[in-house]
Amino acid sequence: MATTRVVIGVDVGGTGTKAALVDLSGEVLARSVRPTDIAAGTKGVITVVEDLLARSDEVDVDVAAIGVGASGFINAETGSVTFSPNLTYDDPYIEEALKSRTGLPVIVDNDANAAAWGERAFGGAKGCDHLALITLGTGVGSGFIVEGHLIRGWSGAGAELGHIVIDPDGPECPCGLRGCLEQFVGGLAIARDARALLGEFPDSQLAEVEASAITAETVGRAATDYDELSLTVLRRAGRALGIGLSNVVNLFDPEVIVLAGSVMGAGEPFLGAARDELFRMTNAQRRRPVRIDATSLGKDAGIIGAAALAIDERLGGIR
Ligand SMILES: [Zn+2]
Repeated sequence: MATTRVVIGVDVGGTGTKAALVDLSGEVLARSVRPTDIAAGTKGVITVVEDLLARSDEVDVDVAAIGVGASGFINAETGSVTFSPNLTYDDPYIEEALKSRTGLPVIVDNDANAAAWGERAFGGAKGCDHLALITLGTGVGSGFIVEGHLIRGWSGAGAELGHIVIDPDGPECPCGLRGCLEQFVGGLAIARDARALLGEFPDSQLAEVEASAITAETVGRAATDYDELSLTVLRRAGRALGIGLSNVVNLFDPEVIVLAGSVMGAGEPFLGAARDELFRMTNAQRRRPVRIDATSLGKDAGIIGAAALAIDERLGGIR
């Protein structure tokens, strides 16, 4: 019988469901990745978990628990999804579905909460008791650790920075509101804003591609060639992010803000504008400058975070 105990960490995002066997020091030993079926999010979770359980013999480890970080409003107490604007879960009771299939202890939390916990357990903010983590992907997620505890809220829908309203007359958001931060800095929003500016910038290199093929990634790439349209969109998005982060500072006064997610690839035009705006706003309030880090866990932040939650909240924190 294998003696190495591991956990499975699962990260359910808008495009991919990623999972891994993770040892108790946060090392990834084996992976499973599937495209997310946006009409059946829970099926995808079960598939990657079963895949890794089958491979645990090969790697010669015992799986002791499962952690899932899922996009949406999650009630961690019941391990269920209460609301998910961007992805449909065929079975909202993810914890129960996994427990009954595997017999293992399971924890389910919001994906950004998991990433925040992972950053504190195994990342660059190790041991930090006051930490905010913002995931900038298709949408925008956030996890807050205050005095060493994750903020989950009364029903699990707390700490949703992506849906604080920056402009009440702004674009509609799938969550039901208008002008949420996500509608300015999420990957889908950046692509939409770039498409909307094509008429004003006929010489943009984005005018040469099919409008439907424009993504935050293509905007980021064009910006590295000094494409004016792309720079304009990314600077605006960065400024909106800076405003969002200033709200975080006013609410929680974190020691460090960690940024994660694919939109980070948009680079300096975006991140520089965010830093400048945050610095301007904190400085106006005579606050000390806030440390902003990129996640040290890279694309694994969600997986390792979900694993860290499983270790700490289902295995008693034996690291
Ligand atoms: Zn919203």
